[in-house]
Amino acid sequence: MRPLCSTAHHPHTFYTQHPFTSMHALLLENAAYVIGERIYRDASVYIEDGRICWVGTGDVPAGTERISARKCAVLPALTNAHTHLPETVLRGLCDDRVLMDWLNKYIWPAENKLTNEFAEWAALLGCAELIHNGVGFFIDQYFYANEIARSVLKAGIKALLCSSVFDGCPEGKTIERQFAIAEKFIREWQGKSTRLYVGIGPHAPYTVNDEYLARINEIATSKNLHVHIHLSETQHENAESRKKVGMSPARRLSKLGMLNRRALLAHCVHLSEEDIALIAGAGATVLHCPQSNLKLSSGIAQIERIRKRVNVLVGTDGNASNNNLDVLEELRTACMLQKYLFGAEAMPLQDAFSMISSNAAALGCNYTGIIKPGAPADIAVMPLEKPHLQPVHDILSNLIYSANGTDVSTLIIDGEIIMQDYRILRFDEGEVLEKCREIAQAIWNQ
Ligand SMILES: [Zn+2]
Repeated sequence: MRPLCSTAHHPHTFYTQHPFTSMHALLLENAAYVIGERIYRDASVYIEDGRICWVGTGDVPAGTERISARKCAVLPALTNAHTHLPETVLRGLCDDRVLMDWLNKYIWPAENKLTNEFAEWAALLGCAELIHNGVGFFIDQYFYANEIARSVLKAGIKALLCSSVFDGCPEGKTIERQFAIAEKFIREWQGKSTRLYVGIGPHAPYTVNDEYLARINEIATSKNLHVHIHLSETQHENAESRKKVGMSPARRLSKLGMLNRRALLAHCVHLSEEDIALIAGAGATVLHCPQSNLKLSSGIAQIERIRKRVNVLVGTDGNASNNNLDVLEELRTACMLQKYLFGAEAMPLQDAFSMISSNAAALGCNYTGIIKPGAPADIAVMPLEKPHLQPVHDILSNLIYSANGTDVSTLIIDGEIIMQDYRILRFDEGEVLEKCREIAQAIWNQ
């Protein structure tokens, strides 16, 4: 018998509707595979007080809740590293346009019609989609961050929410007012829950001037916040930056003191060797969104080169530009593109899988992306008894190259079951779908 949890019992206080109590013990029984620090066969995972106690076999106390994981893979709940959650209600609004056309003519006008109430429902729809895709932790950058926060806590997954700041933002209208909204969001939500972390999200170097980037950097430094920004998404952005300020967007952030361990840099499609060296030297994280970059014809990031020196996570980007939140599909695309660019040995399975799991541990958001004793019990269960998932020669291969996110049937966060047998337990999904159809209709009709 393996020892039970040696960690002390720390009752977690969540700012949620469904507080988790410290008395809960849960056994995921007889999984065909557990993707932990190594791949376990025919193993169980025992969870107590929201944390993983052991992986393998052993006795458990009487009264332990048991879930059969027979013929299933048990894997870490996944990370989706770049989203704009309320955009979910704009899914399919505009395809077949390049980035600046897509933003200026379609997305920003539609976003102007979003209200606080619409954003909260839209974010909840996004949470439902993330849960069905096995995502337990996501990193968002959007306005109406208050509303997203409420949806996240209702849904029960973990998030790092970075309140957007840019001029003309539909929520604040002016950049000064949007900056004040972001400051208030941080004040009100920082430290409120172990499932919700806050940051700040200057939209991009081309939509936020140096004065506001400096102010954002000041608040981020004083409150130890992540800064989540789009960077070098297109050649056009780089060319404009050189024309206006005589340097690349990455160099500009570096000069402003914004490249550091707290920097989360979305896209990074067009980086020079000097840019990569600056980002690597600063210890910043790159958020790679290959499908959005392909769909908007922005280009292909050189991730195989970047990842050798920089922490890289994979994200889907918002639903308006992808158009789903399936991070397994996103990772598959990432792998295939890098193999095309750098050869078939690029992006080996374990390194690739870490980009949607353990590489997020560095962010310090109570998410480790690893199934191991002592880690928060953030776990997804995927039934394997399906034609497209058999046979299994290498479970990571099946996950990355054969599975879809929605093959996940059960999602556990901090030991709490938030989806079981494909059914979300914390809120009425049907009501969310209905409400979001009405919102989409209202946006089209305005
Ligand atoms: Zn984005």
